Amino acid sequence: MTPTTDPRAVLHDVFGFTDFRGRQAEIVAHVTAGGSGLVLMPTGGGKSLCYQVPALCRPGLGVVVSPLIALMEDQVAALRQQGVAAAALHSGLDEEERRQVSLDLANGRLKLLYVSPERLALEGTAERLARRDLALFAVDEAHCISAWGHNFRPEYRMLTMLAERFPEVPRVALTATADARTVDDIRERLSLTEAPVFRGSFDRPNIRIEVAPRDNATAQIAAFMEEADDGRGAGIIYCPSRAETERTAARLRRDGYDALHYHAGMDAADRRAAERRFSSGDPVVMAATIAFGMGIDRPDVRWVAHHALPGGPESWYQEIGRAGRDGAAARALLLYGAEDIAIARRRIAESPAADAQKRLDHERLDRLVAIVESATCRRRLLLRCFGDDLPQDCGNCDACLRPPRLVDATEAARKLLSAVHRTGGRFGLGHVVDVLRGKDTDKVGSFGHDKLSVFGIGRDVAEGAWKNIARHLLAHGALEMASETNLPIYQATEAARPILRGEQPVMLQEAALREAARAPRRSRAQRPGRPAPPIGGGEDSAFEALRAWRKEAATRQSVPAYVIFPDRTLADIAAQRPRTLDDLAEVHGVGASKLDRYGLDVLRVLRDAG
Ligand code: ADP
Ligand code: ZN
Repeated sequence: MTPTTDPRAVLHDVFGFTDFRGRQAEIVAHVTAGGSGLVLMPTGGGKSLCYQVPALCRPGLGVVVSPLIALMEDQVAALRQQGVAAAALHSGLDEEERRQVSLDLANGRLKLLYVSPERLALEGTAERLARRDLALFAVDEAHCISAWGHNFRPEYRMLTMLAERFPEVPRVALTATADARTVDDIRERLSLTEAPVFRGSFDRPNIRIEVAPRDNATAQIAAFMEEADDGRGAGIIYCPSRAETERTAARLRRDGYDALHYHAGMDAADRRAAERRFSSGDPVVMAATIAFGMGIDRPDVRWVAHHALPGGPESWYQEIGRAGRDGAAARALLLYGAEDIAIARRRIAESPAADAQKRLDHERLDRLVAIVESATCRRRLLLRCFGDDLPQDCGNCDACLRPPRLVDATEAARKLLSAVHRTGGRFGLGHVVDVLRGKDTDKVGSFGHDKLSVFGIGRDVAEGAWKNIARHLLAHGALEMASETNLPIYQATEAARPILRGEQPVMLQEAALREAARAPRRSRAQRPGRPAPPIGGGEDSAFEALRAWRKEAATRQSVPAYVIFPDRTLADIAAQRPRTLDDLAEVHGVGASKLDRYGLDVLRVLRDAG
């Protein structure tokens, strides 16, 4: 079939663009000439034109299958703005609207019809379409047809009938998912195994990618928003739960942002209103679950933040791909914690899915974990998931911009694994860290954990650093979540053995351990000198409490009391009442080693002394 119109003229006249992007020209030529195919491009890569232009160039009606009403409505509205006779057929229409679409369809007045898969499968719809001259079928978000994909929709399975029922009509499937299994599945189910696959570049170099351990998510995201946005664009915060979207939006509104929430638990009208508000062009912040975004094609979204680990590299890339479609600088921040990884692993392990599916899910999660834990260019690893090999590091991810220094943390890792093991793999990380740091908590006392050989062997490493080490071990499979609970209770795995035996080094980013080194390593010379207060008398209860503690500590170690701290230092401490290790380090006579050995005990004695 020969094209009735020149694609480039349509691109210019209808869409107002001068050039096709990437592989668009090639795809449009192929489809316009009557060919079928599968198009793989990232979100924001320009997939729509790949079927819209051919549909306008070919005689007959173009039928676009789309999974979401909002997506259809927006596309139809945009096309109408461009003077294209477009309509949508879905369950959201009222009687009158449906009649109008049917009429236009029957009269041959439509050029593009968007339709939901379940509606297309209705015998009446197929029959009416069969009576028309059809330009093409486009199957958008085609990965929804595959159970291997990250967004399976059973109703997409009905689309397998297209090839049998309309063998002469070209079929274009489009997706931003590119893992081999899903691609094969799509080709098979849509009978595209003989048709070409057009794989565009998946790189979206304008999106800066940053990943950080979640510490204080609210503060981290606030700082990120401030940096990422000039106040004119919109942003999306992906939250792990519905409640979290509402909390986040409410908090942002209190801080003066125009913020909305969005999740699948809202009724359709509210969701639609939120979508419209977001699409309005105002600088809106959307706190949403992953239910939000498919079909949102606002071009000037400036940033996307993730509160927690996304479902996999594909969903992550799809979600951050919603930023910067206009090609201008955009940013993405991903925050994650050890529990995200642990919970994701557990969820897969305990899902009722078939083993083959579980293996794929595990593999997908492992690829994501490798990216977020990476010390080298994250974009290279990410794009590799889509079959793209960047010839060099991207220069626009946090690993490229601030290359982390790696340090050997093997010793600390072994201590942590031993502590997990010695405490029986039955306790949360907080308790294990208390044991390592030699804290005298009730729990430590009641389980007799102060008698363990690991008690207090990790005082030199700060709590936050221990958490980072744990996350790293978890990411690399040396720790796993205990199976009978959803609490962050960790157990050592087989993979811990070579580490415990010292056969396998554990390298960690220096920043992850930095907290550890900060307080104790400060040199005496840097501290401001302070006049020594008079030595406290018996009336100072803190001083007395410290002396009592010192006596006990000295007796336990069979050393003279003054080698632990001279009276003068105890008096200084009692007078200054430090509340943190940093403050304590400022006290005359408290060196790094003593801070390590006794710091926490001293602070506890002070607290107890009131
Ligand atoms: P996808 O469906 O792949 O996520 P879209 O089709 O929504 O991406 O396109 C993303 C953005 O890029 C849209 O704003 C679209 O108008 C724009 N765009 C696509 N192709 C071109 C082109 N050839 N020239 C200019 N802008 C384009
Ligand atoms: Zn990079």
